[in-house]
Amino acid sequence: MAGVVIYFAVAGWPFIGDRPPSADAQPAHARGAADAVPVPAATTDRFDGDRALATARRLVALGPRPAGSRTAQAAAEMLRPLLPRGRLAPLPGRPGLRNVVGEVAGHGRPIVVIAHYDTTPVVGYVGANNSAAAVGAVVELARRLHASRSAAPVVFLLTDGEEAPDYPPKDFAADGLRGSRAAAAGPLGRIAREVIVLDFVGQHGLRIRREGNSDAALWSRLRRAAAAVGVGAVFPAGTQGPILDDHIPFRDRGIPSIDLIDFDYPCWQRTCDTLDKLSARSIDAAGETVMELLRRERARR
Ligand SMILES: [Zn+2]
Repeated sequence: MAGVVIYFAVAGWPFIGDRPPSADAQPAHARGAADAVPVPAATTDRFDGDRALATARRLVALGPRPAGSRTAQAAAEMLRPLLPRGRLAPLPGRPGLRNVVGEVAGHGRPIVVIAHYDTTPVVGYVGANNSAAAVGAVVELARRLHASRSAAPVVFLLTDGEEAPDYPPKDFAADGLRGSRAAAAGPLGRIAREVIVLDFVGQHGLRIRREGNSDAALWSRLRRAAAAVGVGAVFPAGTQGPILDDHIPFRDRGIPSIDLIDFDYPCWQRTCDTLDKLSARSIDAAGETVMELLRRERARR
């Protein structure tokens, strides 16, 4: 956590949600309400962005989903049957919080794909891009991936309690990331081979640079996968500031981990984070990329 503490000192920012606003944030590229910066269409069709968006719509329709609420519980129950071998995993010591976990079988240590289904406790906040779109993408990845005896297994982890229970959070590092910390403290933290987190992947004009805490080698392979499916422009070179997200508890255990998050998003933790901010094309670009990365990573030895 030393890096985080140093970061706070540098940024002088007392609280964060998904991430601290960063002192060295990327200069905003032109981005209007619509696709001011067009996202290219993927050249592969192994992932259905419209279908992922439809799942995001179902999640948003439940309303705000702060951890511990009835709507969060309803969300978990809605999502469980959408994952292969889906199950609810209550968080130890956190009554009323649970992760949703699924998997496709394979050979060797699992790759873990994560998105959070809870929302920050801002009244009226429905979290379309943060992070219903990412949940929809993970569900769609799970639907399209198949068990393979010659490839690594994949675990799908939809976390609860990623957001802190208060907003603005008094201590996000201590109070946020509850679902991923619980998962990383369990068997997954010992056996996971690598971790891929999807967070803000749905907004128009999606552009994601490597987040400062994300593993550089795995990110390079992600960028190559993106280029291979025709959406390399969505993952430009360069880095954005470090972000505390669900990859951190795994990274802290030495597991190569990356976070797909386009933090250039004005509606972060604001009630304007609604469905109209989402683009099926953007979700598809992220989804096709991760599908290609998983295909390559699962075959690696
Ligand atoms: Zn988030």
